[in-house]
Amino acid sequence: MLEHYIRDVPDFPKPGIVFKDITPLLQSPQGLRASIDALAAAVDPASYDLVCGIESRGFIFGTALANQLGKGFIPIRKPGKLPSTTVSESYELEYGSDSIEIHEDAAAEGQRILMVDDLLATGGTMAAALSLVRRIGAQPVATAFVIELSFLPGRDKLGETPVHSLLQY
Ligand code: AMP
Repeated sequence: MLEHYIRDVPDFPKPGIVFKDITPLLQSPQGLRASIDALAAAVDPASYDLVCGIESRGFIFGTALANQLGKGFIPIRKPGKLPSTTVSESYELEYGSDSIEIHEDAAAEGQRILMVDDLLATGGTMAAALSLVRRIGAQPVATAFVIELSFLPGRDKLGETPVHSLLQY
């Protein structure tokens, strides 16, 4: 049923990209709740301590998930947004390149982290996020996405870390 709430927007943000628009899902009370419930069911909550979301759409799903399960949330942000001491990682996108940052004290040594984003495409963003979490001494236990573009080799970039996705295209 979740697939009914995903809108394809051709040629956004560049010609040739079919953008998977999640705003109809967020707009729907049933769609929003079903997506958070499904993410909560995808990974055993006892296996992680904190939820980490990637700016910006990872914040929407990650924070709602963390709140529903009584977990804390830690943000990975675009450069220059986090105010305290950060660790930074560069990566290639499906459309361009970018870097992301995390606060060096976002998690304690050995804390177990569930990584959340809206969509897995090439895997570059999540691979960089996994690297950031490891660099601050925490342990990513799994990744969870609303959407996976399974015609791209995103999963392969994430190594041993289990990948969960609610919808595959
Ligand atoms: P990637 O690093 O290639 O896995 O890209 C994942 C990030 O880019 C996610 O944060 C997505 O929100 C965004 N993204 C990449 N491709 C698309 C797409 N076709 N539709 C919507 N978002 C996308």
